[in-house]
Amino acid sequence: MKICNVDVVKLKEQFGTPLYIYDKEHLKRNIMLYLNNFKSKEFDTEVLFASKAFCIKEMVRLINSCNMSLDVVSIGELYTALSVGFPMEKVYFHGNNKSLSDLEFALEHNVGTIVVDNLMELIALEDLCKNKNKKANIIIRLNVGVEAHTHKFIVTAHVDSKFGVIYNSNDYKEMMKILKDSKNITFKGFHSHIGSQIFDLDAFTHALEKLIVICKDFDKPLVLNIGGGFGVHYTDEDKPISFDIVSKTLINTCEKALKENNVKIEKLCIEPGRSIVAEAGYTLYTIGYIKKTPNKEYYFIDGGMTDNIRPALYQAKYDADIVGKENELKKHIVTVAGKCCESGDLIIENIPLPEAKPGDLLITYTTGAYGYSMSSNYNKALTPAVVFVEGDEAKLVVKRQSYEELIEREI
Ligand SMILES: *Cc1c(COP(=O)(O)O)cnc(C)c1O
Repeated sequence: MKICNVDVVKLKEQFGTPLYIYDKEHLKRNIMLYLNNFKSKEFDTEVLFASKAFCIKEMVRLINSCNMSLDVVSIGELYTALSVGFPMEKVYFHGNNKSLSDLEFALEHNVGTIVVDNLMELIALEDLCKNKNKKANIIIRLNVGVEAHTHKFIVTAHVDSKFGVIYNSNDYKEMMKILKDSKNITFKGFHSHIGSQIFDLDAFTHALEKLIVICKDFDKPLVLNIGGGFGVHYTDEDKPISFDIVSKTLINTCEKALKENNVKIEKLCIEPGRSIVAEAGYTLYTIGYIKKTPNKEYYFIDGGMTDNIRPALYQAKYDADIVGKENELKKHIVTVAGKCCESGDLIIENIPLPEAKPGDLLITYTTGAYGYSMSSNYNKALTPAVVFVEGDEAKLVVKRQSYEELIEREI
């Protein structure tokens, strides 16, 4: 099996397992599908990478080299962007509970746009700007009440969501009052993010139309950001829409709704995270022991919930192969289990795979989003290395953690 032109067995020999592998050519293709198709003659457009899906220096460099913008939700992510010289004017800073020091850090580094989540945050930011004599551009995160049909833990836009404010609620009105009088804060527009791993584009067009109607309250053309959440293929149950179609559909919907409502906007933004990185990522494991119980057969791997928490957290499904046996008959129904002391540490339940033996390599697909970024040191597992592959080249972009590093902060 090869990723780009590089043999997966060679990657194991050179970097060990577990190993996160990214196909850089695929990353670039995904980025270009959005950049080339999310364009309009009637308003500006901007595509932001939601960095929380996979935030490491090399990824931020790639985003920068493609001229894409960046969404961060924490100072840690912002710090990563700063460390590689990412232009701060192209950064959007999200989060429902940014502390005063978070906001101060963002102002000091001239972050382009702060996405304000709630009334108290706006009051804090206004005070801070006054005291520090700083200016800020903001957009406000709205809860537009659109519920996307994905797993309930991932849905964010129901009325009691922890994210955003509800249009015309008392808090919303209060915020508009503050913004009207503010000398330091420039209100640019609105943001909405309706969920994740969404396949139904109607959910987005519905949210977008709601935002456009709200634009009628304002004299100046606003910036609208409709978030990310575009679905990807994990298993054959998932039928994603290709990202060029996603982009074009959103643009067309926006243009049409603007005409119908007779409003103009300054700019439309989207912020895909998962859909840029997920399918470009693989995780490579070595199979250890194989165990048969009365009703099950387990293939034990040398990683698990520490490098991929999603199956345990959301019952996420994955597909896998035994490297070198992709075309063999898949006549064993097995459960791929990790090595953590946790019964829920199962990466894939009941997947048909060929017969494997200890030492075989198992590869899981579509692990590029929320795998590395949600990894943990539970059981004091070491965080795996990350490699980017392109053409014949494999480049180490994150070193495997060492045991010294694992305990270095402990006093
Ligand atoms: C998580 C998140 C995204 C990205 O979602 P994906 O499902 O990874 O595309 C975009 N915007 C906001 C505000 C988010 O919280």
